[in-house]
Amino acid sequence: MHRSDWKSVLDVAAPEALRYLRSLPERRVYPQGEYAEIRRSLDHGLPDEGLEAAQVVADLVRDLGPYVTAHASGRFFGFVIGGLHPAAWGTELLVSTWDQNAGLFPPTPGVAVAEEIAAEWLVDLLGLPSATSVGFVTGGQMANFTCLAAARHEVLRSAGWDAEADGLLGAPPVSVVVKEGAHSSVLRALRFLGLGERAAVLVPCDDQDRVRTDLLADTLRTRSGPTIVAVECGNVNTGSFDDFAAVADIAETHRDAGNPTWVHVDGAVMLLAAASPGMSERVRGLDRLDSWSTDGHKLLNVAYDCGVAFCRNPAAHRAAMSVQAGYLEQGTGARDPMDFNPEFSRRARGVGVYAALRSLGRTGVSELVERTIGLARRFAEALAASGRAEIVNEVVSNQVLVRWLAPDGDNAGFANAVMAGVRGEGIAFFSGTTYRGERLMRISVSDWATDEQDVDRVVEALLRHAGAVPTVPPQKPALRPAP
Ligand SMILES: *Cc1c(COP(=O)(O)O)cnc(C)c1O
Repeated sequence: MHRSDWKSVLDVAAPEALRYLRSLPERRVYPQGEYAEIRRSLDHGLPDEGLEAAQVVADLVRDLGPYVTAHASGRFFGFVIGGLHPAAWGTELLVSTWDQNAGLFPPTPGVAVAEEIAAEWLVDLLGLPSATSVGFVTGGQMANFTCLAAARHEVLRSAGWDAEADGLLGAPPVSVVVKEGAHSSVLRALRFLGLGERAAVLVPCDDQDRVRTDLLADTLRTRSGPTIVAVECGNVNTGSFDDFAAVADIAETHRDAGNPTWVHVDGAVMLLAAASPGMSERVRGLDRLDSWSTDGHKLLNVAYDCGVAFCRNPAAHRAAMSVQAGYLEQGTGARDPMDFNPEFSRRARGVGVYAALRSLGRTGVSELVERTIGLARRFAEALAASGRAEIVNEVVSNQVLVRWLAPDGDNAGFANAVMAGVRGEGIAFFSGTTYRGERLMRISVSDWATDEQDVDRVVEALLRHAGAVPTVPPQKPALRPAP
């Protein structure tokens, strides 16, 4: 490796990056190619003698480029996958270039301060208590883990037990109360925390997957001692919001009865709604709860990967995460990111949040929330009007559940066929869900780049694959093939 090689590598990577990003509006969303073909394309064997760096990167453009899924396309509606904001993208290039290890302040003071500011902006934007502590983690899963670790610390500390030092053997039992249909990452976090998935008490939900607060109150009345409750801001299926004010009241009553209580909110999908004045009724009471998790890489459109963990009680957050060691330089008085996330060495993922927030501003974030919800409604209205589909949920955020009405009655098979049709054509990507035992199509509008034309074009394609409009052979290729 010669020092002068940087330019030859950039000369390959930069034009390809620009070509790729510019191709997004018209590009196939889902690549063509099966496992065996991809394997053949990439499996060159580990060489004995290394190759030139620029050659390796050029080969990846050729060998992997054709099989990349356009997650940042405005026509990608699968799972809950956010797009790529240009400011976050540019920042990611620099973050990769600077190659900072952002665990502690001393080795990288600039990055630590940028993350500190990003954290303050988020707390302000979301209307959370001003002392709220923040950890930038890899995603919603780890944000849930981090917040629930802080919860475990605090409810057990209040009961006179040090979970970090002594583990859970012999600890006072912790009641974990979770809504039915909670995101699997919450249950998975309970597994990592030694609390156990099956130990969670499940509280039934209403028809929009909002927790039944009457039943939550009943459940808590039957439990005593340390208690952790988890609710949601943006259900992964329906996009619904729990009644945070009611949950806060119930938690307060439980706490006042002498039970250490912590309420966590999984806000991976829609915590950002708290930044939108138009959504203030939906998130009323959110700021009265104890911890909140969200994803930077979903609606905020920061590059993968980025999640955020927020705790009202910074001491609990820090006690659950911090680690001391003689070979670290700690206690400088500045914020060490490592005190608030489970990673040791870590990527400077908060800098992308700084950039996205600065570029969007308060107004831009609020517009992003409202526009994605508006586009989700546009999908819902057009599909419902076709007579071929029913909308299963109340579209209160950016998630839509679609029941395709099969002519032969096999709705599940029909949903799969319609989704496979548009995916195969390359025009859009949707993923399915099994919701209350029924196979449905799920739409998630999570990309700043999606516009009305994208939605209309994709609705037309969906209806065409559902046989609701005649299939006209395209005059010219509708979409550019991947490279
Ligand atoms: C996506 C999601 C998660 C997990 O987030 P990752 O970023 O994939 O780790 C957790 N909860 C909900 C509601 C989600 O939608």
